[in-house]
Amino acid sequence: MVQDIARASSLASGRGQTSTTMANLKRSFNNRTCEAPYLIFLGPPGSGKGTQAEKLHQNFRLVQLSTGNLFREHISKGTELGLKVKNILAKGELVPDDLTIAMVMERLARPDTIMGVVFDGFPRTRDQALALQYRLDEKGKCITAAIQFKIDDDDIIERLSSRRMCPKDNTIYNLKSNAPKEDEKCDLCGTALIMRDDDKPDVIRHRLQVYRQQTEPLIEFYREQDMLVEIDAGRSIEDITAQLDEWMPMFIYNAN
Ligand code: AMP
Repeated sequence: MVQDIARASSLASGRGQTSTTMANLKRSFNNRTCEAPYLIFLGPPGSGKGTQAEKLHQNFRLVQLSTGNLFREHISKGTELGLKVKNILAKGELVPDDLTIAMVMERLARPDTIMGVVFDGFPRTRDQALALQYRLDEKGKCITAAIQFKIDDDDIIERLSSRRMCPKDNTIYNLKSNAPKEDEKCDLCGTALIMRDDDKPDVIRHRLQVYRQQTEPLIEFYREQDMLVEIDAGRSIEDITAQLDEWMPMFIYNAN
């Protein structure tokens, strides 16, 4: 555990050496006065994390920190990071922790995150989870809750094969349950919607395997720290949004 913490702190700070202790890492677990809500959305691809994170952004002004969206933006702009991760995303593998954590830390350094963040698709590994806790703790903040989106594999495949995304503003649609007003065009900007390459059936199956192996263990990680909240993600978008809206005052109150 001590090694884990040392590793996490060096990943979080980008430094090779570290000096954190168990005591200061534990503070965020046991005394959750987080200043603002910092919510983690945990769940397999297609469980609706992105859709609901977007709603929390609209309704509660939380920053939606979606690592998938950030990587896709880097790829479309052709940045150095984008070039490094393009093939990794196409194959449905995870981007290495050091690159992912550095990108998240950079985003967290922006002042808008002070009012709260919904982490959508991060952390996906134990080292990412430890790095996030270390960083929040360092800033006197902490995770309010990790919300597990529970859904069957069959529902996931069905949902992802009809999922479409606006490549310009990342708005997510579903041709069956959340269709755009005009045929395959974004309601907000009119851009033609696309199917993500990694939503094709073979890649979906691989992403699910990666999720089971590398990300699912985080459910126990957060449960052990009494941070886990489960949500039945097989329901309609409206039902899940209503449930989250009901919980939000509690998260905001707990954070202060
Ligand atoms: P998402 O949009 O969350 O489904 O993410 C799309 C892809 O981005 C994933 O399949 C990974 O290749 C990459 N990715 C997103 N978040 C992470 C993360 N936290 N760690 C590593 N890779 C990630």
